[in-house]
Amino acid sequence: MQTFRDRAAAAYDAEHFRRQGHQLVDQLADYLARATRGEGLPVLPWAPPAENVARFPGTFPEEPTGEFSSFMERVLTHSHHLHHPRYVGHQVSSPLPLAALCDFVSALLNNGMAVYEMGPVSTAMEHNVVRWMAGQLGLPESAGGVLTSGGSAGNLTALLAARQAKAGYDAWSGGSTAGPPLTVLVAETAHYCIARSTKVMGWGAGGVTPVPVDANFRLRPDALEGALAAATRAGRKPIAVVASAGSTATGAFDPLDAVADFCERHGLWFHVDGAHGASAVLSPRYRAQVKGIERADSVVWDAHKMMMVPALVTAVLFREASRSSEAFAQEASYLFQGQDTRRWHDVGLRTLECTKEMMALKLYTCLSLLGTRLFSEYVTETFELSRRFAERLQASGDFEVAVPPDCNIVCFRHTPKGLPASEWDALQSRLREQLITRGDFYLVQTTLPKGVYLRTTLINPLTTDADLEALMEAVRRAA
Ligand SMILES: *Cc1c(COP(=O)(O)O)cnc(C)c1O
Repeated sequence: MQTFRDRAAAAYDAEHFRRQGHQLVDQLADYLARATRGEGLPVLPWAPPAENVARFPGTFPEEPTGEFSSFMERVLTHSHHLHHPRYVGHQVSSPLPLAALCDFVSALLNNGMAVYEMGPVSTAMEHNVVRWMAGQLGLPESAGGVLTSGGSAGNLTALLAARQAKAGYDAWSGGSTAGPPLTVLVAETAHYCIARSTKVMGWGAGGVTPVPVDANFRLRPDALEGALAAATRAGRKPIAVVASAGSTATGAFDPLDAVADFCERHGLWFHVDGAHGASAVLSPRYRAQVKGIERADSVVWDAHKMMMVPALVTAVLFREASRSSEAFAQEASYLFQGQDTRRWHDVGLRTLECTKEMMALKLYTCLSLLGTRLFSEYVTETFELSRRFAERLQASGDFEVAVPPDCNIVCFRHTPKGLPASEWDALQSRLREQLITRGDFYLVQTTLPKGVYLRTTLINPLTTDADLEALMEAVRRAA
């Protein structure tokens, strides 16, 4: 008769782990070789949701099955293959294999990070990688911040600190009715998570005051005064301007210096949502795109977008490190034991999370072992590739780009001769559906004022000009 002790010992057996681990790494290496060559596997093995629900049913055996390789093979086969050079879809990285190994370590160690003692190594790494990122942005020595679970959580964290700093009353303790209703000025092209953050904070529908954009989808600085006046007329107290460094739909970079000037004039908090594009600072050639980011009060920067690490690693950076403690101005005395809330090394004081993965491990390790040049060249090369792609589309005669790309997001549409413009929108949707269900490419679509566009993010460092030429051909054939 097996006792619980026997079962637990088997589940934690080091030799069994060694065998499975070797097997798994071999399996993943074979997978990686195939995926990076893009051979013999579709980018997305398209299947309707019900098919995968049936494939991975919610019934579990009572006893161990011993099955491992075949089980993982099914996971690999039916998943979306982000290392495929023809993955040109969402802003999700094709992770560095080294970073995946770090996640493996993180999962086994499970050093949660609410307080220093839970994760001494990851806390130190987080401290230094955050300071390194702040330095790359050009923020002063006084800067600091945290890593958190994604750009959405990061923007909320930054806006909570902005509220504490600029509301003029203590909304944290007194609630959002303890003073005038608040609002932030935001380009109409901003990521939806900004509006969601203000709703979470209880500011209601007027929590975001839209600022119009120009023909290149960049925030119009000349429209800021008008937006400010409109917010005030609506009975709102504006506390911040949020600029995008890389808007989501088209990758447009708002003019940060002009926004910084405006914020200075009006005493507003200047937040930059650089989830996608803050990585531009790593490229000597493209860092001018984010000129002015060094003047921000807070910046959000996703490493799981343009730094080739797997989700999630988002840095929330503050010009004054002490602002980071104000985002969540509360005490959890059983954890923090009434200690000085400005103890930087109890990271949970400053994050939405209590328990958190060892997020810094993969970023710190990849920077340490692979060196910074890879990251800098990665940004430059993907931005360059996007420019060449946009030029090729524009020169083709039967494609049209929505806007010349600011970064590595290119929106375009196929406009074949003889097809009336009224049918272009429906055509783009049909083309995308055909391409992704066949599995030759994975790309997305977006609706802009002029209509439906195919949208590509050239985020996989293995994608080449030839892949993009093949994409144009595949679109033509599908049409
Ligand atoms: C991706 C993105 C977000 C959301 O970040 P997640 O990490 O997906 O939560 C927010 N803002 C911008 C500009 C983005 O590109």
